[in-house]
Amino acid sequence: MLKDQDRIFTNLYGMHDRTLAGAKARGHWDGTSDILGKGRDWIIEEMKASGLRGRGGAGFPTGLKWSFMPKESDGRPAYLVVNADESEPGTCKDREIMRHDPHTLIEGCLIASFAMNAHSCFIYIRGEYIREREALQSAIDEAYDAGLLGRNAAGSGWDFDLFLHHGAGAYICGEETALLESLEGKKGMPRMKPPFPAMAGVYGCPTTVNNVESIAVVPTILRRGAEWFSSFGRANNAGTKIFAISGHVNTPCVVEEAMSISFEELIETHCGGIRGGWDNLMAVIPGGSSVPCVRGEKMRDAILDYDYLQKDLQSGLGTAAVIVMDKSTDIVQAIWRLAKFYKHESCGQCTPCREGTGWMMRVMERLVCGEAEIKEIDMLWDVSKQVEGHTICALGDAAAWPIQGLIRNFRDEIEDRIKAKKSGRMGAMAAE
Ligand code: SF4
Repeated sequence: MLKDQDRIFTNLYGMHDRTLAGAKARGHWDGTSDILGKGRDWIIEEMKASGLRGRGGAGFPTGLKWSFMPKESDGRPAYLVVNADESEPGTCKDREIMRHDPHTLIEGCLIASFAMNAHSCFIYIRGEYIREREALQSAIDEAYDAGLLGRNAAGSGWDFDLFLHHGAGAYICGEETALLESLEGKKGMPRMKPPFPAMAGVYGCPTTVNNVESIAVVPTILRRGAEWFSSFGRANNAGTKIFAISGHVNTPCVVEEAMSISFEELIETHCGGIRGGWDNLMAVIPGGSSVPCVRGEKMRDAILDYDYLQKDLQSGLGTAAVIVMDKSTDIVQAIWRLAKFYKHESCGQCTPCREGTGWMMRVMERLVCGEAEIKEIDMLWDVSKQVEGHTICALGDAAAWPIQGLIRNFRDEIEDRIKAKKSGRMGAMAAE
């Protein structure tokens, strides 16, 4: 279990003072100008050495991403944009940072922006996060009043402005280029890539888009050292991570833990075990709704990190939103509900996603009640493969993967239901 002294987020539960005074007392904003004084190259190299991978779901190395920004300006300003549009079903970690520990993020914005030669940063916050926006805005105001933002931010000699932008509550605006479109006041529709944001992002200027947690951990990593951060987790999966565990555990929670913790340890230590015991575990979605579900018996010994979940279980760590389902769950219906969500959130500009998400949802609808032919399971699989990887943005993949996970892991459930319907057993089962 992660020791308290190794936790980056010391007020995740809002038990302490979230104001600037409280944040300073817990060690934040300590020596910020000294960190900036070490220079851009040092910061980026240290971030690379820390092994931090993006906490928004994709897991791309953060320091490497920062190094894609132009070293010298060609006359255009550079920007950091923080993706606070936390909308992935099951995911509720960034909100705890913003409402209870906002200064970790604000200090991170200053340091990361400096490292990328950006004098301005936008935080794009999800429309539904109203209380979180209020908490974050009041922390930003405090930081301005204290001289930590604005001209000569934190006495560093660097001028820096931070803007909080409120979205309107569309899932697709969490996709980085849709987010940039929305920030510019347009419809939140993903852009074709290239050009990538580091070349032409917001207002056509070099931009890096990072997740809230990725930026909020930066100051502590730089204060305590890359070696400290990389001492947690397995190789290539370094650091601490906020996990959000929901569903059929005894005490669902959001908790910071060491990367590569085992699923069993996470559940037993922080969630009071599985509801009804381990034999009652049916399935787990380990990384937010877009990653494939895994059968319960394969999860018990699973290591929760990027590489294990992807390579060994054909799933993913995603946002580390762990959704636990016990045997009372209708797993086919649960995945149908996700299919419905992705169909609703498709922006509709590319055909495989616009048509495919609706098609997959409708087939899933029939699978829920068993009104289908067995061969349609394979057809659904084929269609999901035609959506996956053939769209402008990753929403197509996000819609396909839960269905692929269901077919791969619970084909027997789907087939049983179809057979029961045909034999009339389903009606009898419902009558019982
Ligand atoms: Fe829009 Fe879907 Fe295409 Fe993404 S994949 S651009 S959400 S239609």
